[in-house]
Amino acid sequence: MVDLALAPEQEAMRDLAREFARREIRPVAARYDRAGEMPWPVLEKANEIGLLSFGLPEQFGGGGVPGGLVGLTNFVVMEELAWGCAAIATVIGSSIYAAGPVLAFGTPEQQQRWIPRFCDRTAVRLGAVCITEPQGGSDVGAMRTTFRRDGDEYVLDGTKCFITNGGIADVHVVFAVERPGAGWGGMAAFVVERDTPGLRTGRVEEKLGVRASHTAEVVLEGCRVPLDHRLGGEPAGRADGRGAGEAVPRHGPNPLALLQYSRMTYAATAVGLARAAFEYALDHARGRESFGEPIFRHQAVGAKLADMAMEIDAARLLLWRAGWMVDEGMPLARAEGSMAKCYAADVAVRVTQEAVQVLGGHGYMADHPVEKWYRDAKVYQIWEGTNEIQRVVIARALAGDA
Ligand SMILES: Cc1cc2nc3c(=O)[nH]c(=O)nc-3n(C[C@H](O)[C@H](O)[C@H](O)COP(=O)(O)OP(=O)(O)OC[C@H]3O[C@@H](n4cnc5c(N)ncnc54)[C@H](O)[C@@H]3O)c2cc1C
Repeated sequence: MVDLALAPEQEAMRDLAREFARREIRPVAARYDRAGEMPWPVLEKANEIGLLSFGLPEQFGGGGVPGGLVGLTNFVVMEELAWGCAAIATVIGSSIYAAGPVLAFGTPEQQQRWIPRFCDRTAVRLGAVCITEPQGGSDVGAMRTTFRRDGDEYVLDGTKCFITNGGIADVHVVFAVERPGAGWGGMAAFVVERDTPGLRTGRVEEKLGVRASHTAEVVLEGCRVPLDHRLGGEPAGRADGRGAGEAVPRHGPNPLALLQYSRMTYAATAVGLARAAFEYALDHARGRESFGEPIFRHQAVGAKLADMAMEIDAARLLLWRAGWMVDEGMPLARAEGSMAKCYAADVAVRVTQEAVQVLGGHGYMADHPVEKWYRDAKVYQIWEGTNEIQRVVIARALAGDA
């Protein structure tokens, strides 16, 4: 049986997020975009009402919504927040980003140590996940950041780039290999807390869009962490996945396995961003007249709006299917998470571009939010694996070569 109706608890979460987006996010979005600053007051308010930790397990103080970080409730909430502003939704969503690998790969002790920090509604604590490196992000197996054991510690060396919350996060999860070129076999993930000697913020990026989100290099120079900061414990993670939390499916310490799930949240924010642009363009097309009638009556404009509406609904349905599969405990065997992320990202780019076009010259000006949404949309085709890589992943899954 397929049922697209939301449960009353999901509707309540959606309404909470919708109201928060309308009242607290939309009015300040342009200001933080122009300043390129983290929206700390918004983040703090979101934390107070549980919008940061609702997807984390109840046993650690989170909201414990069904499906956790990768279920339908999470997608519904993230769509609403991104309707307010994709960058601020990213800031809210990425604050607990590091909880994903800790839940997926960490031992029960490690989960108990680090997850409750992200559930503290009195203080915002940021997480960061460090995978990408300057010489390439798509080819994760070619990673060069190394770890070596030295007595009771591990020593990390390397540079990670384009890291959301890089250097300012309380908890960084850093993926590294024993030898450059060792590929997946030798890969491990480590928790590195802020202020650990040897971890520093490198270059802070100036960006085209999602400018309210902090993106920076993370430099690791002889960075020492205790042995029990290796996720999954000694010596090479727990291949059986025992000890994994309930919010993220269980895997070995393979970041790609995790991304198949985490990227669905990005699909949700892409849908919210596209919906914001569509609604704004529709309103404008109803009110603006040319040649004696509202511009939506010109078929060229009406067809754009029809395409936008269809594509947004299709993107949401792809995402909800993936969320439903996760909630039902079904494997994403045809890379349904990648399908949702890839399609939603393309839709966000097309819809925001067309929204600018529907507004004409006004769309190009900073007086209207559509130029910002157009800039924000592009990143969805790049982060959490580029759309080219999503298509590679989908093709491999379809061919049974995942
Ligand atoms: C704002 C922002 C925030 C980010 N946050 C994080 C973060 O928090 N943590 C993190 O680890 N990373 C983060 N990233 C990095 C992001 O995941 C990478 O940029 C992305 O994976 C692409 O890697 P790359 O930039 O090195 O491009 P490359 O891997 O160099 O790719 C360049 C181009 O070649 C294409 N390409 C490469 N290989 C193939 C292939 N096999 N087939 C077809 N096409 C291919 C790519 O699709 C792309 O178009 C962030 C990026 C941005 C922009």
